[in-house]
Amino acid sequence: MNPKNVHVIGVPWDEKSSFMRGCADAPHKIWDAFQCDSANTCAENGQDLGKLANVSFQGNLKLSSGNAAMEEIMARAAQTAVEGISPLFLGGDHAVTYPLVKGLAGHYKGLSILHFDAHPDLYDQFEGHKYYHGCPFARIMESDLAKRLVSVGIRTMNPHQQEQADRFGVEIIDMIHFDPHMTIAFDGPVYLSIDLDVLDPAFAPGSSHHEPGGLTTRELIRTIQTFKGNLVAADIVEYNPHRDIQNVTAMVAAKLLKEVAARLVA
Ligand code: MN
Ligand code: MN
Repeated sequence: MNPKNVHVIGVPWDEKSSFMRGCADAPHKIWDAFQCDSANTCAENGQDLGKLANVSFQGNLKLSSGNAAMEEIMARAAQTAVEGISPLFLGGDHAVTYPLVKGLAGHYKGLSILHFDAHPDLYDQFEGHKYYHGCPFARIMESDLAKRLVSVGIRTMNPHQQEQADRFGVEIIDMIHFDPHMTIAFDGPVYLSIDLDVLDPAFAPGSSHHEPGGLTTRELIRTIQTFKGNLVAADIVEYNPHRDIQNVTAMVAAKLLKEVAARLVA
């Protein structure tokens, strides 16, 4: 099979962050880390993503605000599907995932979502807001945009979100039960959504919501490399450069970019 075209697309949108903004500045920082001379651009399978003509950074989306921004994000996601491109979106906060999935779902029948996060992000609303970054998977599931939602690394479940998870049939693999050697398998197309706060803050301090007790970088990489399914699109969200220390989290995000792109291009 021919390698696919992978477009890395910045989605600099953080106006739906509840606690602290800053994720809008993430996409270029992650791409700079990917290109930084301190490391090469190979994924661990040996594929040199920096040398592949079919992997490219498209820069940031030009976004308005509010509902108009969501429409613009959705339209760009849909456009990638029409053009047969495998997109890797760099957030932005996690609020970008609802419009992204909404734009793609109509084009990928039976789409499943593999979601890494410290948080379930299943709030029906957060302080009266339906599109905040704690709500995207409630919007996705109530709109029937995903056949399955598998959420990995959760360690902040509360009664309201547990009710929501039960209502939507979300498959929660929380930190109590996470096993790095488990295999997660899907039929049909898969959307991968990585909230960097799934990692323990020791590995990724550059996020707005530090939640100790998370995955190691190796555990996350291993799960990305080994899950079974046809990956068609992905996002890496919630990198907050204003919280980072010496760009350490930017390098983590760039490492994940390499591993995710290596699967998207295959
Ligand atoms: Mn999240
Ligand atoms: Mn989170």
